[in-house]
Amino acid sequence: MSLRSSPTPDLAPAGALRAPYVSVVVPVYNEEGNIKTLFDRLTAALDNLGKPFEILFVDDGSRDRSVEILIGLHRARPREVRVIELERNYGQHMAIMAAFEKARGEIVVTIDADLQNPPEEIGKLLAAIERGHDVVGGYRKNRQDSPFRRWSSLLINGVRAQTTGIEMRDQGCMLRAYRRDVVRRMVDSRESSTFIPALAQYYAINPAEIEVEHAARTVGASKYNLYRLIRLNFDLMTGFSLVPLQVFTLFGMGVSALSLLLVIYLAFRRLIIGPEAEGLFTLFGILYFLVGVGITGLGIVGEYVGRIYQEVRRRPRFAIKTVHERLDE
Ligand code: UDP
Ligand code: MG
Repeated sequence: MSLRSSPTPDLAPAGALRAPYVSVVVPVYNEEGNIKTLFDRLTAALDNLGKPFEILFVDDGSRDRSVEILIGLHRARPREVRVIELERNYGQHMAIMAAFEKARGEIVVTIDADLQNPPEEIGKLLAAIERGHDVVGGYRKNRQDSPFRRWSSLLINGVRAQTTGIEMRDQGCMLRAYRRDVVRRMVDSRESSTFIPALAQYYAINPAEIEVEHAARTVGASKYNLYRLIRLNFDLMTGFSLVPLQVFTLFGMGVSALSLLLVIYLAFRRLIIGPEAEGLFTLFGILYFLVGVGITGLGIVGEYVGRIYQEVRRRPRFAIKTVHERLDE
């Protein structure tokens, strides 16, 4: 019996033939000055690899000319460039999720739009996937960010390693590659506040990490101010660990035990020495401190409750305004 008599994937209808080998996902939020250069370097790097690819740009509610420029790129290479426009700004991780839902590649790569991750490194990620890894994370060699960002990442990486049990060298590096089945599982999680590298690591069976170059941002500014950084890291901590709550409970128990000792001691003093008012301010000091701790604890509980509330409401995680793509022929 000849091989030709049974339908092999090669004989599948034209539509299926077009499924790319790699999908590159790029979240874009007000990056008008970076898109063109990124596109040129990215397509050069991907053309070099010689495998069919698609680039999925997600416009995360940009207010500059980003969308216009992206649509131009789609027109220039309609089969390789797909543009998803979100209704508003949902944050980098949800933007990536929107693209994950639509990615068709065997391998899905994420990369920032600001050229901090060199597109030329994608080949290295793909090679590691081809060696059998299902998730390949980059870690940044000579990270080119402000000292504040580097130190806070060091701190958060340490806390995350201690509390979530998720092992990763550089959680903030978004130059990463995933096998299709891992992406599928991430999409199926349907979490509305998540942290993609940690989620992938959670599903990975055979992850790997490789060193990648990092460049300073030359155009535009970081989209993460202190507030957004804190929000993002709360997503990471509450999404992957109950330790903050447990630490709090333990601390509460410790403080209660100590307070009990203090009360017993003060009661004895009252009996032996009689009434006294010295040390009142010290007591106030301790009290204010404990009130502060109590409010922080309520806040932490609130962070979890808020996220639970979001999940139970089951509102859509993001709304897509338009998709510019050409998948036919
Ligand atoms: N980004 C996004 N939505 C946001 C914030 C950022 O799509 O709400 C994109 C941004 O355009 C860039 C990537 O995510 O492509 C990384 O953002 P940024 O460079 O500001 O982060 P940093 O490098 O400072 O961590
Ligand atoms: Mg950046």
